[in-house]
This record gives sequence, C-alpha cells and structure tokens, in this order.
Amino acid sequence: MSYHHRRPDGRAIDLPIGKIVCVGRNYAEHARELGNAVPKEPLLFLKPNTSHADLAAPLVLPRERGECHHELELCVLIGRPLCGATEEEVATAVAGYGLGLDLTLRDEQNRLKAQGHPWERAKAFDASAPLSGFLPVDAVDDVDQLDLRLWVNGEPRQAGNTNQMTLPVHALIAYCSRFFSLLPGDVVMTGTPAGVGPLNPGDALRMQLGEVLEVRTRAR
Ligand code: ZN
Repeated sequence: MSYHHRRPDGRAIDLPIGKIVCVGRNYAEHARELGNAVPKEPLLFLKPNTSHADLAAPLVLPRERGECHHELELCVLIGRPLCGATEEEVATAVAGYGLGLDLTLRDEQNRLKAQGHPWERAKAFDASAPLSGFLPVDAVDDVDQLDLRLWVNGEPRQAGNTNQMTLPVHALIAYCSRFFSLLPGDVVMTGTPAGVGPLNPGDALRMQLGEVLEVRTRAR
C-alpha cells in the first residue's frame, strides 16, 4: 500500500492518504433501485484511510460475507483544509478528480439497516475504497457534466452523469465540510448512479470518467 495519492500515470502526488467522506443516495435513480427514499439532505458516511486501495490493482473482495456490490463514483481529492467552507473556497481547494468504487457488502448492509445499526462493517472494511489516480483539475472541463460508466465482463452495468446529482460537486463538498473538516489528502466520494450489482472473483471491470480517464481492473 502506498501512503500518497498518485496521478493516473503513476506519478506521486504530494498528499497523504486521508479519510474518505462518502455521499449516499445522491442520484435519485440509484436511491429508487434499492427501494430508498431520495433524502432531502445529502446522506453522509465515512471510510477510514485503511479503506483505501489502488483501483488499478486486483480488487480484494471479502469472502463469505454475502454479496459485494460495485458502486462507481466520481472522487474528488482535497488539497487544502476546508471547514464550513463556501463553494468559492472549495473551488480553490480541489487537487484532482478521479474514479473510485464504494465497495459495499449489500447483504450485510441490509441487515444492519434493518436493525438501525451503523453501516461501517458493510462499507468501511479494508480495501473497500479502491481509488484511481487523480487528474489535475484543469484536465476536466466541467465536473458537473461528466459521464460515469462501468462495464463488467464487457456488459454495461452503470451509467450516469454528474448532472444527475442532487447537489453540484462544489456545493456537495461545501456541505460535507460543515460536518467533517476536510484535510489535504482526504477524498470525497460523490455517490453512485443506478446499476449497482454484485461482483464475483474473476470479473473484469472497465470504468470511464467522461473522455478523460479509463481504468481497467479485475476482482479476485
Ligand atoms: Zn456509494
């Protein structure tokens, strides 16, 4: 495990791997596919830095804990501290954009939800947040108009556009910073579009962020 983020070409970024702030049910269609109401305010949860893994390396799926679902998400790397930030402050603090999977033990999450318990065991396990390298901000024309696509074994599974999010990206990060101070090296995972589903050992994944980033990996 590397303790710094990287660019897609592998060059190190001088930012340590920090915590990950995740947004749930941020795309209405995905909320509906799991039978959840679309929340009035973003639903937030955390993954610790031990959740981090490299998306380009083989995905490590937990064994014998039920279905492990892919959730493809736009990931935003934070470069400067943000606490109760404005959208303008967020705009100057973003250090890069990338892709990530919010790996989710769906059966276990459903059990925890039914009991009213926290989701961490289903969402925040080791290597539950494989992240790509991060593109510099100027490589992305408009972060609020980006297609996200995921294929598994050549079959289209997830497709969406960041324009379907309940809040635009900078407003969403400003919102997160009201509850959790964001530090350099932290990452915000912005929620998943519809089409989540289980992964199995041996699956081949292809993921795209607009025209600017493509990542391939395998589950093992
Ligand atoms: Zn998610």
